[in-house]
Amino acid sequence: MIKAGQLELFELVLLDVFNLKQKPITVFSRAIKFDRAECYGLYSAIDTRKSYFHKIRISRKLIKTPEQLFAVMAHEYVHAWQVENDKELLHNESSKFEYWINYFNMRFETDIVGIV
Ligand SMILES: [Zn+2]
Repeated sequence: MIKAGQLELFELVLLDVFNLKQKPITVFSRAIKFDRAECYGLYSAIDTRKSYFHKIRISRKLIKTPEQLFAVMAHEYVHAWQVENDKELLHNESSKFEYWINYFNMRFETDIVGIV
């Protein structure tokens, strides 16, 4: 179960880790689909000339524990970081996603890919 305040606590941790210029707006959605597949979370960005707007949606249906919430938020924060640092929104080496996979494994023992 996700308790009140956990999302805000994770936001503080992740903002400190990623040092973003713009704080992502994170909201819970009942369920999220992308290309017809159900997802844990989804990132979207609007680039309004150098000021960024990051939006993260979290699936209330699939995310049930604080550990899952942190993992999916960290995953989506990587995408926000990629946008601010001119990287492609991919999950590979050149987009630096693999760097963040290792970082969260080492520092938080969190898997930001598998989620569960
Ligand atoms: Zn992703």
